[in-house]
Amino acid sequence: MYNTLIVKYGEIGVKGKNRYIFENKLIKNIKNILKPLGDFKVYKEFGRIYVDLEDYDYEEVIEEVKKVFGIVGVCPAVRAEKDYNKLKELALQMLEEKIQEGAKSFKVESRRGDKSLELTSQEMSLDIGGYLVSQVKDRIAVDVRNPEVKIKCEYRQTHVMAYSDTVAGYGGLPLGTNGRAMSLLSGGIDSPVASWMVAKRGMDLECIHFHSYPFTSEKSQEKVKDLGKILAKYCGRVRLHKVNILEIQKAIGLSCKEEEMTIISRRFMMQIAERVAEKRHCDALVTGESIGQVASQTIQGLTCTNASVSIPVFRPLIAMDKTEIVDIAQKIGTFETSILPEEDCCTVFSPKKPVTKPKLDRIEMSERKLDVEKLIQDAIDNIEVEDLEF
Ligand code: ATP
Ligand code: MG
Repeated sequence: MYNTLIVKYGEIGVKGKNRYIFENKLIKNIKNILKPLGDFKVYKEFGRIYVDLEDYDYEEVIEEVKKVFGIVGVCPAVRAEKDYNKLKELALQMLEEKIQEGAKSFKVESRRGDKSLELTSQEMSLDIGGYLVSQVKDRIAVDVRNPEVKIKCEYRQTHVMAYSDTVAGYGGLPLGTNGRAMSLLSGGIDSPVASWMVAKRGMDLECIHFHSYPFTSEKSQEKVKDLGKILAKYCGRVRLHKVNILEIQKAIGLSCKEEEMTIISRRFMMQIAERVAEKRHCDALVTGESIGQVASQTIQGLTCTNASVSIPVFRPLIAMDKTEIVDIAQKIGTFETSILPEEDCCTVFSPKKPVTKPKLDRIEMSERKLDVEKLIQDAIDNIEVEDLEF
């Protein structure tokens, strides 16, 4: 029945003069995400975006389209040549389907986009509603206050259209409309969610992962790659920078207090990420930190980590509880991969009793025993890069 999708976008509708930039970006992103399925006609018409379905299964197409950031909802619709009686038939077809699905009450909502029709929008609703009742009799009730289903009918300049359901999207802003972020991606639950949230606000995403191969396994790197691929489903291609920090961790282990291992290696990670970010024209770093979640994420820990770089650091999960983070991880499809039991470089070298209230001056003093610049440069010289696609 359905031959087109109506794409509804919220926030980008209010961007004034920049609106068309956002809309064009959205169209491009929808086309991109649909590429593996086929070549779809995606177009803008009277301030709305449509995706023509051809012979494709509409549920399959919606499943993809709703992943595009900036979309608040997708409605499967039937569209036909401009003919008022045809519109009534489409409405009836749709209502019959709803009755079959078990709906008990309905109402008609109409829009007259073409003033050549002699009925007003309200009169349209009455007229079409009356027609529908005459056809379906008492198999479904009319309820204008609180109907189970709304049959939406539109009479427009070039066509007529009927639709009812809306499949919710994730909202946000179209990718690529808000600069570029470098996300510190571990194999855990949090950092993939943090990356996704920032991408949802329109930032293009690159990821950087730190490992201690051969102390950490190849499998743990595979896991991070898999997480990057899931993110690529939403973000298009994701570039992953893989950095071996084994030598750095050995150096810290030799010269610094054991309890400072985590916080100092975290500061190295941030500095390396900052340099790679600059090279890749990224505007900010992203981490999955959340206040008080682990020893290194106390206020003092976060302060020490933060002080190692000057680039802005975005922490979208900062005030979220683990259960809230897990909910999002499940929704976006990263959770199952994140909980696979692979070790992380931090866990391999984690101290038995990490400092929970590190003092920045003490940490900086410990770092003076290290050739920080050389360690960072060596790690950067050996970075491996991979472009991930879903
Ligand atoms: P996650 O679930 O994201 O691993 P976590 O709760 O385990 O987070 P930490 O291990 O303290 O917390 O890490 C805090 C943040 O530091 C992570 O969210 C991530 O952004 C970054 N990070 C930690 N380890 C790595 C790593 N090996 N590679 C890249 N980033 C890392
Ligand atoms: Mg972790």
